[in-house]
Amino acid sequence: MLLTEFNPNAIRSEFPLLTREVNGRPLVYLDNAATTQKPRTVLEALEAVYTHYNANIHRGVHTLSQEATQAYEEARTTVAQHIGAPERESVIFTSGATAGLNLLANLLTERYLLEGDTVLVSEMEHHSDLVPWQLNAPRKGAKVVKIPITDDGALDLEQLQALLHRERVKIVAVAHVSNVLGRVNPVAEIARMAHAHGVLVVVDGAQGVKHGRVDVQELGADFYAFSGHKIYGPTGVGVLWGRRELLEALPPWMGGGEMVGTVSFEGTTYADLPFRFEAGTPPYIQAIGLGRALQFYHECNQQAVSEHENRLMRRGYEGISQIRGLRVLGYSPDNAGILSVTHPKIHHYDLGVLLDRMGIAVRTGTHCAEPLMARFGITGTLRASFALYNTEAEVDTLIAGLERAVGMLA
Ligand code: PMP
Repeated sequence: MLLTEFNPNAIRSEFPLLTREVNGRPLVYLDNAATTQKPRTVLEALEAVYTHYNANIHRGVHTLSQEATQAYEEARTTVAQHIGAPERESVIFTSGATAGLNLLANLLTERYLLEGDTVLVSEMEHHSDLVPWQLNAPRKGAKVVKIPITDDGALDLEQLQALLHRERVKIVAVAHVSNVLGRVNPVAEIARMAHAHGVLVVVDGAQGVKHGRVDVQELGADFYAFSGHKIYGPTGVGVLWGRRELLEALPPWMGGGEMVGTVSFEGTTYADLPFRFEAGTPPYIQAIGLGRALQFYHECNQQAVSEHENRLMRRGYEGISQIRGLRVLGYSPDNAGILSVTHPKIHHYDLGVLLDRMGIAVRTGTHCAEPLMARFGITGTLRASFALYNTEAEVDTLIAGLERAVGMLA
C-alpha cells in the first residue's frame, strides 16, 4: 500500500482494533504517546513467524532457524535505514527504550564518570532517562543536575551553556521530543554545544522516532534509544543505536549466550557489535514485527504523517483553548502531535473518566515526568496524542467531549 496522498480514513481500515466500540461509542483512540495500535501487516508478520518459520535465531543450521535469523537481521537493516545509522552493526535490539537507557546509564557510568563529574538531564525528561542516571552516577561519586526549562516549555539553552561551563559535565541526556508537551528539542544544537566541551549526548527517542524523518547523524546524537510499540510495532522490543567507536569502547552489559567469543573458566572473550549487547534470546519475533512496522510507516510517507498529526494537534489546540478554564501546557504550533491539558479546578483524572464514558481514550497523570509537573506546579495533565490514523472528526469529538465534561464538572 503506497499512499502518495495521505488519507487517514484509508489507513484506518488497516488497523483492526480501531473498529471497536467503547462504552457503546465508536472508539476515539488518542493515547498514542503511550502506545500505538498495530496495522494488520504487523499482526500478519508476527503470525507468519509463529505459524511458518519460528526457530531460535543465530544458533541453528536448520532451515527454520536460518529463515528466522535472516528476517531478524533484515529488521536490523530496516531500523538502521529508518534512523539514518551509518552501519547496521551499531543497531542493538533491546526490550525497549527503558532497557536501552538503563544499559547506557550503567555502562557510561562505568566507563566515563569520575568523582565530582556531572550528568545533565533535562527537566522535561521521562523517568526512564532520569532515574537510571540517579541509580548509577552516585556509584562513582558523580551527580545528576537538571537542565531547566523556560516558562513556555522550551529547554533553556542559556542555562545549558552556563552548566557546561560551570560543571565538570561528561554526559547530557535529553529527549528528542517531550512525551508531555510534545516539544521538539533542538538536539543538533544541543549536541554542538555539548561536543564543544567533549560531552557525550544521549537522546531518548521514544517519542521522536515517529515524528517525521529521523537521522541520528544529522541530530549529532552519540546514542539514540526508542521502543517499537510507539511506532506501530510490537511491545517487548526496542532499539539502542550508538556511534560505533563509542559502543566498542563500552564493557559488556548482560552476560549470556551469543554475546561471547570463546568461554572458559580461565577467561572469556566477547563478541563484536551488535551481538556483544544482545545476550540471550533476543525478542526476534518482535524485532521482525518492528521492521515491518517501520516499512509500513515509510509507505505512509513519514513527512506527510507528521504534518497530518500536527494539523490535528493545531485543530485540537484551537478548540480546546476556547473552552473556559482549559489551558494547553507548553503549547507551540511546532510541537509534535501532543496536547497536555490542565484546568485550575477540575482534576485531570475526572475529565479522563468522563471522556472514557464517551469512548474517548486519553491519558491522565504525571506521564512519568514528575519533575516537569513540579516545574509547572501541577499534579498532572490530561494528554491527547495523535497518530497517523486519527482524523479531524475525532479531534472534534475530543473538543466536544471536553466541553461537555468541563460543563458537568465545573
Ligand atoms: N521516554 C519517553 C519520552 C517516553 O514517552 C517513554 C514511554 N512513555 C519512555 C521513555 C519509555 O518507553 P518504554 O516504556 O517503552 O520503555
